[in-house]
Parts: sequence; C-alpha cells; structure tokens
Amino acid sequence: MTAHDTVLPPPAVTTDVPALAARVRRAQRRWSGLPISERVRRVKALWTRLRSAQDELAAAVRRETGKPRAEIDVLEWAGVELIVKYFTRNAARALEDRAAARPWIFANKRAYVRRVPRGVVGLIAPWNYPLLIPLGDAIPALLAGNGLILKPSQWTPETGRLLARLIQESGLFPEDLVSVAEGGAAAGEAVVRACDMVLFTGSTRTGRAVARAAAERLIPCVLELGGKHPMIVLDDAPLDRAAKAAVWGGFVNAGQTCVGVERVYVDRRVYAPFAERVEREVRALRLAAGDADSYDVGPVMLEAQLAAIAAQLADARERGGRVIGGRVMNAERRLLEPALVLDATAEMRVMREETFGPVLPVMPVADAEEAVRLANDSELGLAASVWSRNLARAERLGARLEAGLVGVNDVLGHYAICSLPFGGVKQSGLGRRNSEEGLRMFCQAQSFVVHRWPANIGDPWWFPYSDRVARVVARLTRVA
Ligand code: NAD
Repeated sequence: MTAHDTVLPPPAVTTDVPALAARVRRAQRRWSGLPISERVRRVKALWTRLRSAQDELAAAVRRETGKPRAEIDVLEWAGVELIVKYFTRNAARALEDRAAARPWIFANKRAYVRRVPRGVVGLIAPWNYPLLIPLGDAIPALLAGNGLILKPSQWTPETGRLLARLIQESGLFPEDLVSVAEGGAAAGEAVVRACDMVLFTGSTRTGRAVARAAAERLIPCVLELGGKHPMIVLDDAPLDRAAKAAVWGGFVNAGQTCVGVERVYVDRRVYAPFAERVEREVRALRLAAGDADSYDVGPVMLEAQLAAIAAQLADARERGGRVIGGRVMNAERRLLEPALVLDATAEMRVMREETFGPVLPVMPVADAEEAVRLANDSELGLAASVWSRNLARAERLGARLEAGLVGVNDVLGHYAICSLPFGGVKQSGLGRRNSEEGLRMFCQAQSFVVHRWPANIGDPWWFPYSDRVARVVARLTRVA
C-alpha cells in the first residue's frame, strides 16, 4: 500500500463499465454543447490546476515506476505542456466548419463539413508513460467535445486515479466527463464494448485483440503499438552525437519506450570508433530506483521482463555477441545494469523481437543498402533514424524506411513536435495521434449540402427524366 491509497477515494467504478459509460455520455452531451472557445478556456484552466499539482503527480509516477524525476519532468510533463499549447492554439481552427469545393452543376448550393464529436472515447493506456500518454490523448479528445473513459494500466493505477480526481475536483467539466475504469484486461475489454471510439496504446498482441473487438462493434479504433527502432549509422555520421543518441534513445525510461532505439546498424568503416564511444557512454550511466537523488536509468517495470531480457541476452551470447553489462543488480527492485550487445547479428532475438528494456544491440553492416534491407526486415515500423553528415543522402535513405516516424540525426523528437502525425506502419499501429489529423480523428465528419436557389422548384435531373437534361448534365460534368 502506498501513502496515496490512504487519501485517495476509491476508483469511480471498477466493474460496472456500462453504467460508467452512461454517465460519461450524459456529461458529454453538456460538454459538446459548449462553444469550442469555452472548451479551450477550460482545458487551459485545467492545465493551470494540474501544474499546481505537478509534484504530487510526479511523486505518484515515481512511486509506481521508479523513473528519475528529471525524466518525468522532461519527457512526460514538458510533453503534455507542448500538447496543451499546440491543441489549445489550433483546435478552434482545425475543428471549425469548412466550406467544401463543389462542381459547377451545384453552384446554387452551399456545401460544408462539420466536425461532430464521437461521444465517449475509451483511452486504454500502458504503464510506461502514465502521465504523458493518457493526458496527451485526453487533451485533444476533450477539446473535440468528447467524454472519456480512461483505462490506465493495472500497473500504474495510482497515477490514473489521481489524474481523474484532479480533473473532477477542478470543477471545470460536467461531473463524470472524465472517468476511470480500473483493472486489467477485463476492464479494457469492457471499455471497448462500451465506448464509441477506442484509442489503444500498448503491445501489438493486445492491440490485435482490441481491433477484433472494435471490428465486432464497428467502432473506430486507433492503435499505437510496439516498435523496434532501427538506427542506421552511415560511414559519414557525426559519431559523437550518434553515439550519445544511441545511448539516450536506447536507455531512456530504462529502454521502455515504444519509439526508443532497439537496434543499431553501423557501417563497418566506422564501427570501431562508434562502438568505443557507445561503450564509454553506457559505462557512465547511473542506475538507481525512485528514491535516489540523481540517476539516469531506473528499474524495469515488471519482474517478467527481467527473465525475458535475460533470455535475449543469453541468446545473443550463444550467437557470438559481446555482452557488456546486463547483470541484475537488485532483483527485488528490478534494477538491471544497462546492457550493450556488440557484434550483434541479424538472427539474434535481441535484433528481431521488441526488447522493451535497457539493452542496446549494435551490429556492423557492409553499407547503407544492407542497413536499409535489415531495418525493413521487421514486422514493426514505428520509429527509425538515419545518421549522416550528408543530410540529403540521409533524407533519401530515410524515405525508404518502412516506419511512421523517421529521424535524421535525431531521435524521439516527433512526439514533442505536436503538429506531426504520430504513429506506426505495419504491425506498429493504425491511425495517428497528434497533429490536426489526430485531433479530427476524435470527430466524425458531418457533410452538409444546403440548397439556396431557386427556392421552390425541383432540380432538373429529378423526375421526369428527359434526354435533353441528360445531355446538359453530361456536358456540365464532363472531365476537361
Ligand atoms: P499491454 O498491451 O500489456 O497493455 C496495455 C493496456 O491494455 C493496459 O491498460 C492493459 O490493461 C490493457 N489490456 C490488456 N488486455 C486487454 C484487452 N484484451 N482488451 C483491452 N485492453 C486490454 O501493453 P503494456 O505492457 O502496458 O505496454 C507496453 C507496450 O506498449 C510495448 O509494446 C510498447 O511498445 C507499447 N507502447 C506503444 C506506444 C506508441 O505510441 N506506439 C507508446 C507506449 C507504449
């Protein structure tokens, strides 16, 4: 039991998700009736309120995940700050009614598109960024006029509960507009059965189950799933920056980041100096758990990960990889020494399966062509990066990568540039969060045609049919 369990109220509802959804739906009707300018005002006011609880929220995340405070502030807090800034500035414009171009033959009518909220959106979240992911999606979903059922990970319930309580207590929203369904898979399944749209963030395996359940109900589902970021280091790469990026991108959040670097392909000509730099950076990492003052890498989240990672490292050793680090330093606190796998090969499990832990495999390749071929030889396609001093060459190569997010001499920047659509290809997901595209997905398009004149006679192509009208219509609609 944590200190918070004694002061927080019990979760809104843990079992009866249908009843919860009915309450959210009632609240949503009132919320969507407000003008967008008012919704923007209230979301900004919410952020001011949450900001005053930043320490409390960060403490909850630390207790549940053990990650460094600086990491929470930089990756989670500043991330949401940028989301709030982007969407409160752009939502009104992105969601306003938009006139639609119409053909000549309809010159006497007006056509436009309205954006109508979906209703109740289910946000099913993972444990790795318990503030950033649910809040980052809640902000645009609310601005678009929806009510929310947040289903936090069963491994980070306290953060989810606290977040919902702060939102409720702010008094800025109709009661129950943002509600929490607690629990594991069963709660997630109930949310998919009760909501009008689901945004799922988590593993590819669960994502498939969510997609099946959503298909059964014919509700839209957006899936943000796993990744296996290939980092390609070319012979002309800026090696110091590339090595630092590999280590930060590989070990940020103890390697538990969907867009984090999971495999590095290095041109053989620069392999030795790159590996030497990476090794130096990895050895300098400070490992500790949530109660320490200053450290870089925190614990892995679940005990099961320790065994899974050990199996990948054993496989890498058996196949001739040189493993540096990787010892379990404290099993009870799940502290795993950052592991570097040098001389990795394409067959190793660590190069093929999502590791989601503090492990960085580095493999020499003959040239850029081999790197691209191996990078694309994966079922996953979330993030990827190319490293070269020749930006044009790197961008050309990047365009050949099968990934939704491509960095050139950059890692993990996409989420923070909220105007960019964020998401994966292949088994890494469906749909995109962030950007105007990501905001509009929380709405349905409602298309209007308004006949203006002549007010009281039928259109010429209605009954009765005539050859003369058919010829006029054919002439007016012909492709030039
Ligand atoms: P997970 O799939 O185990 O769980 C995610 C959420 O789904 C949890 O809330 C869980 O309770 C719920 N859930 C489980 N079974 C369900 C079901 N049958 N129906 C509905 N909901 C169900 O994932 P995790 O271990 O919490 O997170 C790690 C994974 O998330 C990694 O694969 C990582 O790459 C991925 N991830 C992706 C992104 C992205 O933006 N693409 C971001 C973060 C994490």
